[in-house]
Amino acid sequence: MNSSPRAIHHLNCGTMCPRGARLLAGEGGLIEPTRLVCHCLLIEGADGLVLIDTGFGNGDVHTPRRLGTLFRAAVRPQLILGETAHSQIIARGFQAGDVRHIVTTHLDLDHSGGLPDFPDAEVHLLGAELSAAMKPSLRERARYIGAHWAHNPRWVEHEAGGDEWFGFESVRILPGSDAEILMIPLPGHTRGHTGVAVREGGRWLLHCGDAYFRQSEVQTPPSCPPGLVLFEALTMIDGGLRKRNLERLRELAGRHSEEVELVCSHDPATLTSPPGRG
Ligand SMILES: [Zn+2]
Repeated sequence: MNSSPRAIHHLNCGTMCPRGARLLAGEGGLIEPTRLVCHCLLIEGADGLVLIDTGFGNGDVHTPRRLGTLFRAAVRPQLILGETAHSQIIARGFQAGDVRHIVTTHLDLDHSGGLPDFPDAEVHLLGAELSAAMKPSLRERARYIGAHWAHNPRWVEHEAGGDEWFGFESVRILPGSDAEILMIPLPGHTRGHTGVAVREGGRWLLHCGDAYFRQSEVQTPPSCPPGLVLFEALTMIDGGLRKRNLERLRELAGRHSEEVELVCSHDPATLTSPPGRG
């Protein structure tokens, strides 16, 4: 069986323009907006499409207020219909029903908005993330939006404990598919946050979700603009776990750059020019 999918497309399914370019991106004016993306992957397999994260969805574009006043004021999502995963998949000549599986790194509002646009897809995630979203603590409440799963998705919960993958725990999902896809649990940002590794030719592509926000954080020596450090601190649920996982990702990036390419959700640099792909 071929273990590589036919194609992996890198999509931006949501542009966000928070103010504070100097503090968030390390350059530009103090109140100048900077640009963040929602980096999603669309995988063409022999038996259908697999979507890794969904960004914002059509419902968010039509009803922005459901994302909450604070989030919209702080992050300034642009909510462009043509950017939703649904629009981009249709533009490529597919139908929504062709998306058989969605794998979510976590269920934060900027990663799960497209779920209602693919109601027939199985939605794969770690059990801990589903528990957090269904029974959020007071602190977690603003990050999860019930409208994103009001259609009662076909959840498929996974638990860590498969084969070791470069020293990380892994969970093989879709074992019957030609696309080799692993969940690599990376908790810290949320309770059940996970990376998703996809075999691409002889290498692996690891989508790290929000385990870090900027590619310079996994370079050696690491760096991160102060505003982003603060933003990450405000949005993580377990600082110790997050820090430890970030260190492990940095180590992975340093030692195995020939075999593994890392991308994260919100850094526009790796969407347009991912390391290793020019
Ligand atoms: Zn995010």
